[in-house]
Parts: sequence; C-alpha cells; structure tokens
Amino acid sequence: MREIFLCKYGELILKGANRSSFESILVKDLRYRLFRTGCYRVYRNQSIIYVVPEDGCEPDDDARRAAWEIIGRTFGIVAASRCVETEKSLPAICSAGVSYLADRLSRVRTFKVETKRADKRFPVHSSDVSAELGAALLGAFPNLRVDVHDPDVVVKCEIREGGAYISAGQERTAGGMPVGSNGRGLLLLSGGIDSPVAGWLMAKRGLRLSAVYFEAFPYTSLQAREKVISLARELSLWTGSIDLHIVSLTGIEEAISRACDEAYFTLLLRRSMMRIADRLAGAEGCGALITGESLGQVASQTMEALAVTGAVPQRPVFRPCIGLDKEEIIAYARRIGTFETSILPYEDCCTVFTPRHPRTRPKAEGVKAEELKAALGPLEDEALQTAQTVRVRFADTGV
Ligand code: ATP
Ligand code: MG
Repeated sequence: MREIFLCKYGELILKGANRSSFESILVKDLRYRLFRTGCYRVYRNQSIIYVVPEDGCEPDDDARRAAWEIIGRTFGIVAASRCVETEKSLPAICSAGVSYLADRLSRVRTFKVETKRADKRFPVHSSDVSAELGAALLGAFPNLRVDVHDPDVVVKCEIREGGAYISAGQERTAGGMPVGSNGRGLLLLSGGIDSPVAGWLMAKRGLRLSAVYFEAFPYTSLQAREKVISLARELSLWTGSIDLHIVSLTGIEEAISRACDEAYFTLLLRRSMMRIADRLAGAEGCGALITGESLGQVASQTMEALAVTGAVPQRPVFRPCIGLDKEEIIAYARRIGTFETSILPYEDCCTVFTPRHPRTRPKAEGVKAEELKAALGPLEDEALQTAQTVRVRFADTGV
C-alpha cells in the first residue's frame, strides 16, 4: 500500500497556450521544491498533478509530512489530498480503504463516501462503488454511521486512468498562480508586518520575488538587518528563493535632514527608496515594485502622499494591502508565519528621522523643490553601487 498526493489546480481561468505554460511552470516548481525530500516524483495527467514516491523509495513519516507541507505552500495548487493508490477493482478498493483510513475513521462518528469515476471505462457505476466501500467501512468500524448531510469525514474514491485513489477528503491549499507565471517583482521589504504580507500576496498571483531592504547603519542596527533576512527566509517557504538586496540610506538620510524642511523628510526618503528600487528592478528584470502600503495607515500613506511617492518609478507599484485593515494584514501575517518575527522590536530607517509634523497633503511642486536642495543623485548612485546581496534559498529554509 503506498500513499501518494493528488494536487488540483484551478482550471477555469486557464485557456489555450496559457494553460500549458501554467501547468509546466507549476510542475517544474513543485519538482524543485520537493527535490530536497529526495524521494518524490511529480507528473501530470488529465489536469491532476501526481506526487508519488520514487520507485524503490519508501518515505518515512517525516518525509511524507514535509512533502505535504510543501504542497500546501505551493501557489497554483488549489486543493490536494493524501490518498492510498490501489488497483481498480471493488475488492482492492474496499480493503485498501479499510486499512488506509483506519486511523482517521476510528476517531470520528459519521462519514459518507463520494466516488468520482474519471475513467469511464471502469464498469462499476460511481454510486455502486460508494455503496460497496461504505458497507466495507461500516463493517470494519462499528463506531461509524452514515450521514450524507453533515458527515465528520467525506471519504473520496477517485477512479482514474492509472488506478483508484482513496482519501479522507481533500484540503484547500494556497491557491493562486504558480510563482514565476506572471513575471518577477521587486518587494520593498522592511521589518514591519505589512511588507512580507504584500510580497506573499503578489507571489500568490504568480510573481517571483526579489527584495530590497533599506537600512541606515549605525542609526539602524545589525539586528534589524538580521530580522529582515529572517522574514525573507520565512517568505521563501512560499515564494521560493529570494535575492535580498541591502541598500544603505545613511548618506541620503543625513543629506535630507541637513538640507530639507523637516515636514518632508519621510516623503523625500520614500521617493529616494522608490528611485533606487526602480533602478534595481531594471537590473533584476522586475516588471513592478511591491510595497506594503495601506491607504491612510500613516502620514506617508494618504492618497496625496502615495501620489507623490508613486510618481517616481517608471514601473507600476503593486500595493496589495492598500484596502486591508491592520487586523486583516495581521491575520495574513499569522497565517504565513511572519508575524512573530515582524513584531520583534527593531528600528526602521524611516522611523529614525521621523518628522514631528509630516505633510499629509503634499503637493508635487513643493516636494520637488525640497528634493533639489539635498542633491540626492550622486548619493543614490553610491547607495546602489555599495548594495550587498543575500541569496535566501528555498532549500536553506528546511521544513
Ligand atoms: P511595514 O509594516 O511593512 O514596515 P509600515 O506600515 O510600517 O509597513 P511604512 O514604514 O510607511 O509602513 O512603509 C510602507 C512600505 O514602504 C512598507 O510596507 C515597505 O514596502 C516599504 N518600506 C518602508 N521601509 C522600508 C525599508 N526600510 N526597506 C524597504 N522597504 C521599506
Ligand atoms: Mg514599517
């Protein structure tokens, strides 16, 4: 008896050529992610992705759990099930179902069986398969009774080309589109709660991520940098490897604070970040910038302030948190596993030079006039030239 995983992807949105490129990106991504478990093979047949043990390989509980977790975090898969694979005959289906589901069914009270006959050549009708398997389970587990309306467990039996697959139901997984299927984006990753969530939401829509973190050493600490590297590592469990560029804004912050009106500090700094990020994005082949901005959250995220900072880059700025409340962003952060790291108390370069009375309704001309006073061009060139890159690899993260 061997356990395999069946993965399903949303078919409705997929048409023509898009569909086959979507499928091959997804299969390739899943192969790459599962590679480190050392014992799984991935293939696709009739809109299902099969993850099966390599011939001669018997994954232990840890390897099976790791594979299941990896599948659950792979964007593009909408649902997956852990199944036992068996030969397509009623006796084989009944005996495999009884032994594979024993643990699960001995702990519940009600169940029903649903059968899907994708292989129409199989001579027994779906409802007859369900009745036979249901009877076998009732015979084996006296604690059980059938409830077709609200069962504790829905036992699924799928009859497909290569065999019959029995599971205790399927689970919804990450959904979205495979990472890389919509190109690459550059995430402005701070140590806060919002930007990791923004990166996750855009990776879910098929972007492969690069990231940039702006620091202002010695005003910001090395621990603040380590925290951002940890966030990138946590994100990479979902997004795959991330190149994290670390850019120093120290010279730029000092020049702004020397030359400009304090009310504009944050805005000018954010425009500088956008300009540098846009140039990095060009070098990295990223078609968009991604930020964790949320409308009205702070002074630099009013509509007028967003217009002033958003006017800088040539690329579109994706702000997937723009319409989310803080509680909603926190719920995502908890779900994706970045929250605990995000709330570690280290300073951000934006907060080091915070104005007492920031401009919340800035005008473009006023901002540009202030910006000219600081002569930021050469400082931005230098910040880019001295950037360091940390490559956070998917495989470094373990599970
Ligand atoms: P977060 O919780 O992600 O830090 P925030 O609510 O604190 O966001 P801001 O500090 O105003 O908001 O930053 C808005 C966005 O600008 C962040 O979500 C992030 O995308 C980007 N950003 C801010 N500071 C940095 C930084 N030091 N390095 C890289 N990006 C940054
Ligand atoms: Mg922040």
